Amino acid sequence: MSKIHINLLKHFNVYPKKSLGQNFLFEPVWVQNIVDAAQLKTSDVVLEIGSGTGVLTTELAKKVNKVFSIEIDDRLIPILKNVVSEYKNVRLIHGDVLEYSISSLLDELSYDRFVVVANIPYYITGKILRHIFHGSLRPSHMILLVQKEVAQRMAALPGQMSVLSVSAQFFSQVDILKYVPAGAFYPKPDVDSALIELDVFDENDLIHNDPVLYFRIVKAGFGQKRKQLQNSLTNGLGINKAQVVEVILNVGLDPKCRPQTLTIQDWSNLTNALVDLL
Ligand code: SAM
Repeated sequence: MSKIHINLLKHFNVYPKKSLGQNFLFEPVWVQNIVDAAQLKTSDVVLEIGSGTGVLTTELAKKVNKVFSIEIDDRLIPILKNVVSEYKNVRLIHGDVLEYSISSLLDELSYDRFVVVANIPYYITGKILRHIFHGSLRPSHMILLVQKEVAQRMAALPGQMSVLSVSAQFFSQVDILKYVPAGAFYPKPDVDSALIELDVFDENDLIHNDPVLYFRIVKAGFGQKRKQLQNSLTNGLGINKAQVVEVILNVGLDPKCRPQTLTIQDWSNLTNALVDLL
């Protein structure tokens, strides 16, 4: 965050709130890194989640025709209005991203393609991803700052998988671009961060055509920590164990394996094999 932004926070008497994940970007070089990583075209429509003091918003506005930027904190709105006032292509939205229908916002203006670029509030990373992935209009790609460990979980390989990694990899190609030190933020958080790119798949390229059903099986499979797949699926789906074991064997897996070892293709095979038993 530049000196101007620090002074604005002081001037408006705003103290960062931990409860809202307010760790503002301090170093201009990191703002530039995020913008560069997004490889934006002038015609792109960008959605920013968590405008903060507008440090990233204005840099995005210099690159593209339209920026939607959502900020929940009432205290930041006067600052933001001041900072973005000369950028007529920025639409500031005062609200909770999780309550906002992104597709209706974009539909309203006849946009059918958008990119998410954001230093998101870390405390709702999973919820934000679910909201975006399960919305009716998904972005073409996302450039996000997230907690380092969360980035690593999203990019995990079979053996270390979780619902988060299955979800991220079901909907996108996950790449960790750079690690970002805690010192890049004000106030300095307790964790390091990572800049990630999620290259979101087209609907037709998803590994399964029924995400709702797919994630019903995934969540059941991960429902009980450290349980074997045969037990978590039996309990989670309320199906007879012998039938579950048969299905697992039929898709070429070991009923005693742990859910974290499965690939996203394995979950797809399981979903297809279980559908008639549900
Ligand atoms: N983009 C700014 C930056 O890089 O300096 C701020 C990033 S800060 C990590 C996250 C921002 O998200 C904060 O300004 C916070 O108030 C906002 N925020 C937190 N929860 C939110 C929510 N549910 N909806 C919209 N914004 C939210």
